[in-house]
Amino acid sequence: MAQPERIDIRTTSGPVPLFLGCGLDPVVLEAELVRPLAPDAIGIVSDTTVFRHYGRDLESLLESRGHRVVTVVLPPGETSKNLEIAVEIYGELCGNHFSRRSVLLALGGGVVGDLAGFVAGTYMRGLRFLQLPTSLLAQVDSSIGGKVGVNHRCGKNLVGLFRQPAAIWTDTRCLSTLPPEEYLNAFGEILKYALVLDEPLCARLEALPSVEAVRADEALQAEVVRRCIRAKVAVVEQDEHEAGYRRVLNFGHTFGHALETAGRYVRFRHGEAVALGMLLAQELGVAVGAVERSWADRAAGLVRRLLPLPSPEGHAADGLLRHLGHDKKNVAGRHFFVFSTGPGRFAFREDVPEPALRQTLERFLAAGGAAPAGARRKPAACGRCSRGSPPAMISSTTS
Ligand code: NAD
Repeated sequence: MAQPERIDIRTTSGPVPLFLGCGLDPVVLEAELVRPLAPDAIGIVSDTTVFRHYGRDLESLLESRGHRVVTVVLPPGETSKNLEIAVEIYGELCGNHFSRRSVLLALGGGVVGDLAGFVAGTYMRGLRFLQLPTSLLAQVDSSIGGKVGVNHRCGKNLVGLFRQPAAIWTDTRCLSTLPPEEYLNAFGEILKYALVLDEPLCARLEALPSVEAVRADEALQAEVVRRCIRAKVAVVEQDEHEAGYRRVLNFGHTFGHALETAGRYVRFRHGEAVALGMLLAQELGVAVGAVERSWADRAAGLVRRLLPLPSPEGHAADGLLRHLGHDKKNVAGRHFFVFSTGPGRFAFREDVPEPALRQTLERFLAAGGAAPAGARRKPAACGRCSRGSPPAMISSTTS
């Protein structure tokens, strides 16, 4: 088995080791990360898809090493990231006598990681937890930095906290089973790093024929994952609680979260919404004189070439403005935005006037996201549709 690379993330609650590799040994995971925590019980939180691929082996391994394991499996998708499901998980933990010595393992994508981290941070005022990210998006972004939480009908990630995991275990071999659309989805966040933080990555992506070229080349994929992890770690180490600099990671997210909320968390994947949000932010940046038109067009060209984006048609500026009003970065009613001002460069603006915002949204929506029709991805139908499973029941098993 391959030796993992180890990155120690400096946080206010102590160093968080991140292990990165392809084909990591779960026996090492148990021996070096789980056993030292001396848990009286382990809760594996996963979704049905990921559990089918990776959960059973992990559960068996932990049981064979003498651990008491309770497995909680959720319907896959963003609609599971809510308080109702969190409450169901509290019930499972309580019913199985989890104590402060117990440990949760978040095995899955960003939905599972954010939700399980939220439960770990709040149950009995805090359990230890490990992030085992299995989606590309979770590996390059959501498993790092300690932001955990759930969605609310008023806003994306509206309820949450900062809670660092005890460790992060990132095995890129898991990416082999990730559906192509979920692989693409991660490029919303990967492009974000490139456009505001990492000029060499931006150059690399501009030279790429397609996202498939990354997937087909293990060394290139490893390099992209490592670069994004390093970019995020560098930001989090400087500003763990998002007092200032960390807000750079919200590039594309202000509009993106408004779209996700307006689409009731089923219409857009997170990365797609972020990508649309980056296009909108750049248009707004041009409107307020923070971004050169030539760079906005070049950045938009890169985003559109790598990602087939859904059209935001059907959404109205008024609705999106209402959701923007709940943005966590607003200060005293003033809208805060991050713009990319060149490859790997950014600017903050805290005084974006509402008329500029409205006009940018109206233009963008009227142009159907301004994408050439052939390059658009058909949006999901709506409501409790194909992608979002209803936030129904979780299932659990106990050893
Ligand atoms: P997700 O967790 O819903 O995973 C996407 C889909 O991929 C799911 O259907 C899942 O079952 C499947 N999947 C995951 N790994 C797989 C694998 N190895 N093989 C086969 N299928 C697999 O979504 P996501 O895109 O991973 O994460 C999006 C979430 O992350 C959003 O809720 C977003 O808000 C959050 N996020 C959080 C942060 C943070 O800092 N906490 C940062 C960025 C995004």
